[in-house]
Amino acid sequence: MTIIGSITDTAIKKNMKVYKIARRVYDKVKFGKDSAKDRAYFEKRLKKMRRSAEKFLDLSNKPDKNVILITVDCLRDDHLSYNGYSRQTTPFLDEIGGYRASLIPASPWTYPAVASLLTGFYPHNHGAVLDGEDRKFDLSKLRPLKSNILTLSEILALFGYATYFNSGIDLAMLSVRRRFHEQKLNSLTDAEVILNDLKAWIRKQKGNFFAHIHLKDPHEPTMPPKEFYNYFGEVKKLPKIEYWGDFQKPENQKGREFEEFKENKVLLYDNTLRYVDYALEQFYAFLEDQGLMDNTILIITADHGEEFWDHAELEAKYFYDIRGYAGIGHGHSVFNELIQIPLIMTGPGVPKKEEKDKFVSGVDIVPTLFDLLGIQHNIFFDGTNMFNASKKRLILSENTVHGHEKKALIYGELKFIYSGGDKVAWLFNLKKDPQEQNPIVDEELSKIFIRNLEKLTSPKLLYWGVQ
Ligand SMILES: [Zn+2]
Repeated sequence: MTIIGSITDTAIKKNMKVYKIARRVYDKVKFGKDSAKDRAYFEKRLKKMRRSAEKFLDLSNKPDKNVILITVDCLRDDHLSYNGYSRQTTPFLDEIGGYRASLIPASPWTYPAVASLLTGFYPHNHGAVLDGEDRKFDLSKLRPLKSNILTLSEILALFGYATYFNSGIDLAMLSVRRRFHEQKLNSLTDAEVILNDLKAWIRKQKGNFFAHIHLKDPHEPTMPPKEFYNYFGEVKKLPKIEYWGDFQKPENQKGREFEEFKENKVLLYDNTLRYVDYALEQFYAFLEDQGLMDNTILIITADHGEEFWDHAELEAKYFYDIRGYAGIGHGHSVFNELIQIPLIMTGPGVPKKEEKDKFVSGVDIVPTLFDLLGIQHNIFFDGTNMFNASKKRLILSENTVHGHEKKALIYGELKFIYSGGDKVAWLFNLKKDPQEQNPIVDEELSKIFIRNLEKLTSPKLLYWGVQ
């Protein structure tokens, strides 16, 4: 998703080269010139927060492992080859080892999901959401991350870590703006550009560090480098294949042309995943060359997945969307193509374990890392240590961006999708119906899930940080 209406008009999108250059100039003008100011703001805030943070954290007990968090935008779990996907999209990730599970992001779109990964709180608690009842992705309704909540980067900075963030997507950066020593936006940039910048930054570090990078590649406009563009087969040069062609609306989603477009769109996405896997493999080799993997926890995950018309019919029939779209992109629904993403963690202390049938949550990342790093605290996170978490616990995903609010609650193999505005209260058994094609209406069970939703989303009385 993009925030710059003026330069994303159709005329400029037609020429991807011009579009890319325009975006880079915009990033520099809009964010680059403020980098010194942003850093000063960050350091001043850190100073101010230290005293209140001391009430919740034992700052005398300093952790000594580096942390690298890599989020890949729009990365759906079922397209990774280790999950049995038909194309070998991720040979490197298939072999990396460590801990592996499926992660439910706290939201099906970038802005709130990234904030949850970095705070351990659900969107209704951390505050970085799109507000309003009847939503149409109106960016004036974006609310900032609450200032009394510290991010993982700020906490580690309080322990003396150097912190770095580099994003290929503006909304990921905006979600946690001024929460790192160094923060960069590189819109529409290939994974290797961002990873090379990170390598250069790592080479300069003398002490412990935390780096978070957010890779754009699978996100529209999908434009992998030419060596990978046709990796699993030649992608036909169909109009607007980097986007959604003219197949956003249900009335156009039929016929031979649509089927051909869909096939090529998915092929382009898979070719892009193969590229991202290659770029990550190169980066991992660098970490090993530098001797960093003995002392670094590496996390590879996503912010949310991507829909390729998986639920177009159900969405068109039951869910209001002011754009008249169905079945494409992300942010609009809470089906699993959007809220089931990979989680791979490796490094010292990380169990070597693959938990294929276990869901963990985006809000588990921070509490899990705290345990791995030996950070003593008394913060009531929404998440928990994912390695010890039960398979049966409630996991939430919320804050959709088009139409009425939709929420998902997962409990083991049971999934509940709720939208008061759309009058939808559906249950799915993910074991029997993993594609979520047959919603079950069960009033009694729905009542229990609604009660749990209300309980889980009622505001917490006490946040941590500055009160
Ligand atoms: Zn995203």
